[in-house]
Amino acid sequence: KPGELTHFLQLMASSFASLFESKGITYHYTVSLQPVWVLMDSDKLEQIISNLLTNASKFTPTKGQVRFSASVEPGQTGTCELQLIVQDTGIGIGEHQLPRIFDRFYQVDDSATRSFEGTGIGLALVTELVDLHGGQINVESTLGSGTIFRLSISFETVPVVEQSGQESPGQESLASPPLLS
Ligand code: ATP
Ligand code: MG
Repeated sequence: KPGELTHFLQLMASSFASLFESKGITYHYTVSLQPVWVLMDSDKLEQIISNLLTNASKFTPTKGQVRFSASVEPGQTGTCELQLIVQDTGIGIGEHQLPRIFDRFYQVDDSATRSFEGTGIGLALVTELVDLHGGQINVESTLGSGTIFRLSISFETVPVVEQSGQESPGQESLASPPLLS
């Protein structure tokens, strides 16, 4: 469905502030401001982002830091590219475990005494959804010092049709919602 991407990302990013605050984690986010109308499935995009931010909050101890950045740039004609970065200063992932974290039900520590909730399905879902968008995801991590996920997802842009009475040359992509039926 047509939707405005950057406002959606702003809302998503800001909706996590209270979670991080409640855990004593410093949270910074930056999101491109320029509105971009695209065809998007906001539920899927929300699942991708919320799984990554939830993991960051789960695997980062108090006093840690989490950064979220979302930037949207023009892609090939009729498309734009979303680059997402979720970076934390959490517990990190060992190099032998790293390739497996996207597997369904895989958890680095699966002992009965592990202190983290969950079933190990979040990242499997994220990869599936990123694949569906024809996107890419990669991860770098250092055990004991933190993890960074980078995603790129492209979206089809939708032409913004000028609404009557709102002609303002050069501004047409800024505010008006697309008039599609
Ligand atoms: P679920 O998402 O189903 O609630 P989960 O968070 O354990 O459970 P995934 O999100 O799929 O499962 O992540 C798989 C495993 O990868 C986690 O259990 C954890 O061991 C590791 N992991 C994921 N994100 C991070 C991170 N940011 N820092 C450290 N380890 C992580
Ligand atoms: Mg998870």
